[in-house]
Amino acid sequence: MSINRREFIKSTAALSAVSFMPTIIIPRAKTSLGVALVGLGYYSKDLLSPALQLTKKCHLAGIVTGSPEKIPVWEQKYGIKSKNVYNYQNMEEIANNDDIDVIYIVLPPAMHAEYAIKAANTGKNVWVEKPMEVTADKCQAMIDAARKNKVQLAIGYRLQHEPNTQELIKLGKDRPYGAIKKVSAEAGYVDPRTNHWKQNKALGGGVMLDMGVYPLNALRYTFQSEPTRVLNAELTTTRPEIYHEVEEIGKFTLEFPGGGIGYGMASFGQNINQLSAVCDKGSYDFSPFQGYSGVKGKTSDGRIINIPLENQQARQMDDDANAIMTKTKNIAPGEEGIRDIRIVEAIKECAKTGKSVKL
Ligand code: NAD
Repeated sequence: MSINRREFIKSTAALSAVSFMPTIIIPRAKTSLGVALVGLGYYSKDLLSPALQLTKKCHLAGIVTGSPEKIPVWEQKYGIKSKNVYNYQNMEEIANNDDIDVIYIVLPPAMHAEYAIKAANTGKNVWVEKPMEVTADKCQAMIDAARKNKVQLAIGYRLQHEPNTQELIKLGKDRPYGAIKKVSAEAGYVDPRTNHWKQNKALGGGVMLDMGVYPLNALRYTFQSEPTRVLNAELTTTRPEIYHEVEEIGKFTLEFPGGGIGYGMASFGQNINQLSAVCDKGSYDFSPFQGYSGVKGKTSDGRIINIPLENQQARQMDDDANAIMTKTKNIAPGEEGIRDIRIVEAIKECAKTGKSVKL
């Protein structure tokens, strides 16, 4: 094959250009996101860190703690590198740490906004435990910070990721028993502690924020609609020597579109965990409806809803990591968390004034 001079010059010029081209390294998309837990109390230690050993799309990469004595314990147990250990003062430096993709806030509720906003400003994605915060204004500030930084914000509503709860949600969407007329949801446990943040107003204690968001969120996902009015509410205690700043027991009734009635109850003094829905042509009960394992339902025509799940928190975190990796909406974003907090505020107003509150 003959080649003329002009073609020869063109092809060698192209070759030499190639040989001088800088090597461009295209970063491979991560298959597992690094999570840093902020606050190493009960939920991080007993539930989230073990669950992060089971997750497939994320892993425990870092910690943020104000308790130096916890650092060697966590480093040894989970092989956390010392460069991925932060405290509350220097956590902003996570911005420069490629090992960490998600900052998970697991602090007392009244500290969620401050640290979620700091986390969003690092440019990392943010997960926040329930309740989202103590006021809707603080929730909105968290949503705004996530939007401004173009990061995902997910609230730790583990049940919305749970397959039996998803069946309950489907019953609300499909309405196989006709209109849903009345739902009651009650959640509580006996808390023997006397001087914890759950009894402290400034830190976001009180049963309505802590346990109350379970029946409240459940009424909303069972009806598959938003309540229009708080009809009545009562916040009380049977142990005033312990619960003098915040309520120990919360009871509330909500009106839903079409006249459905939702009754919710939460308590720090009683073990209770059940939900029941009465419809036009049947009913269903879930008991437990919010435990860490074994959410179980039964319908009036004999269907048992009891899908096995190894670990709720692992499912939740894998779902939320997948939403980040695929740039899709997560199941329980900040906009979901703020809805409950707005209703908690209305329930508190209703309890105080004795008058129903329009939502
Ligand atoms: P916890 O009291 O056991 O832990 C709180 C952590 O925050 C501790 O490590 C503590 O040292 C730290 N902290 C930092 N500053 C503090 C301060 N000023 N006062 C008190 N603690 C401070 O609480 P927890 O039970 O782990 O709850 C943490 C969050 O997780 C809360 O939002 C709670 O509602 C949520 N939670 C969720 C579930 C669930 O099932 N999704 C279950 C339990 C707790």
